[in-house]
Amino acid sequence: MTARVLIVDDVPANLKLLDAKLTAEYFDVLKASSGLEALEKAKDEQPDIILLDVMMPGMDGFEVCRRLKSMPETEHIPVVMVTALDQPKDRVQGLEAGADDFLTKPLNDLALFARVRSLVRLKMVTDELRMREATGQRIGALGTKEGDAFLMSAPGRILVIDDRPTSLKRITETLADSHNVTVAETQEELMQLAATGDYDLHIVSLTLQEFDGLRLCSQLRSLEATRQTPILAIVEEGDTPRLVRALDMGVNDYLVRPVERNELVARARSQLKRKRYQDYLRDKFQQGLELAITDGLTGLYNRRYMEGHLATLVEDAANTGKPVSLLIFDIDHFKPVNDTYGHPAGDAVLRQFADRISSNVRGVDLACRLGGEEFVVVMPDTDIAFATTVAERLRQCVAAKPFILDEAGRELNVTVSIGIAMTSGPKDTAAKLLERADQGLYRAKRDGRNRVSAEAA
Ligand code: GH3
Ligand code: MG
Ligand code: MG
Repeated sequence: MTARVLIVDDVPANLKLLDAKLTAEYFDVLKASSGLEALEKAKDEQPDIILLDVMMPGMDGFEVCRRLKSMPETEHIPVVMVTALDQPKDRVQGLEAGADDFLTKPLNDLALFARVRSLVRLKMVTDELRMREATGQRIGALGTKEGDAFLMSAPGRILVIDDRPTSLKRITETLADSHNVTVAETQEELMQLAATGDYDLHIVSLTLQEFDGLRLCSQLRSLEATRQTPILAIVEEGDTPRLVRALDMGVNDYLVRPVERNELVARARSQLKRKRYQDYLRDKFQQGLELAITDGLTGLYNRRYMEGHLATLVEDAANTGKPVSLLIFDIDHFKPVNDTYGHPAGDAVLRQFADRISSNVRGVDLACRLGGEEFVVVMPDTDIAFATTVAERLRQCVAAKPFILDEAGRELNVTVSIGIAMTSGPKDTAAKLLERADQGLYRAKRDGRNRVSAEAA
């Protein structure tokens, strides 16, 4: 993974050292030696992440962070505060200024790369979302304060395993303020609960007495239900080999014992945020798929989907010899409905029409809106006699009771004409079938509307 990192420090030697470390890991490095320069570069160069020294003459890191997070051009860029003093107070102040994470000097390489990678990955997801949401309705500005607030409004579901009573108590008490925390007592219990896929974050101690924490992490990474769920590991100070293996295994971030409360809150929040963005992205993708095959007004399948489906069915029919029948509907005198009552009333009729049709056909039948006030029902394994019975029933169902035009409850009687056709022989095609049904429809209209007409092959 390569990313552009802006490093900010007033001491040239610090900049040089950090530059060397990051460059060696193939990051693209930008440098600033004062708060003002950092603001300029952040705006102009749009880095993927900013590592920000706290103690600088003039404008200190907290102030730089506050300004970055209040400008629309930079508010989505993750900021890591680099504090010289290992002071919880500084960390709190950093978080209040809007920082996404913090590191303490002297910088530990593992911590540095783990945090940078984790935040850059999060930013990639949010950038992708921001792009897709360019029209920005619900969330509008993803990666910004409002976007985060929306995604983080529900409490996170966190599953914890740690066999040290004091440590466990501290973790659960700290997180219980804003999240729902579940504790697993054993490895089996953890895997069982995790397999439900009901959790947003797993917190796993790597130093369990009775089980191998690393093995647990690897199992969580290999299960379908938990593969995407972030893992936060708890490690012993100085246990670098185990930590390296954990990070290689895909553990997302870690905390060193004794677990510091603010740090725990911040790390949990970053991981939850990423999970929420991912879930959101997946839902959106699902919606995108639905939009591609359904009609927005009625929720029925659209023409494109129906044509594909029909082509398959007609081919199958040629092979099996089982007929496919098709009904084509056109609402009678629909234009005057719009002209008299307005377009919204026309839409209301179309929606109710779709409901009446789709709730009166079998599950295997496919109801679709062809466009305008024209609809189609495709019926597999159905001959023309049965199709005619169904069409007649649907025609009556439309004519039987009036449609509601608006909230005031105005009503209107509506009728429909229906053309029917059935596949005939192995040479028949979807297009020919549609054409014959259309001829049936034309005759139904000509013969006076509100009627059904079948067209023989
Ligand atoms: P006929 O009995 O011969 O079918 O007459 P008709 O008025 O129903 O036929 P025509 O094809 O002339 O008019 C169809 C009308 O459907 C025209 C258009 O205003 C209306 N229409 C098409 N799509 C929509 C839509 O999405 N919403 C609304 N409200 N009206 C639509
Ligand atoms: Mg029409
Ligand atoms: Mg019509």
